[in-house]
Amino acid sequence: MPPLPKPIFCKLLGHTWQHHVEDPKTVWTASKNMCELDQESQEEPRFYQRCARCGAERDWDEKDA
Ligand SMILES: [Zn+2]
Repeated sequence: MPPLPKPIFCKLLGHTWQHHVEDPKTVWTASKNMCELDQESQEEPRFYQRCARCGAERDWDEKDA
């Protein structure tokens, strides 16, 4: 069976959700003793789910019906 167009596949079988964390503003800096890295983030990381097939996004906490 040939692969279905993505939107139809998602409509028939549901989305293929994958969890993602997006934290582009994170900066890693070496602390004084150079043994640890301090994570400095200017923004809250974004938690979300994205469909691997069609790229639709939804909240991290949303559950499949
Ligand atoms: Zn989808």
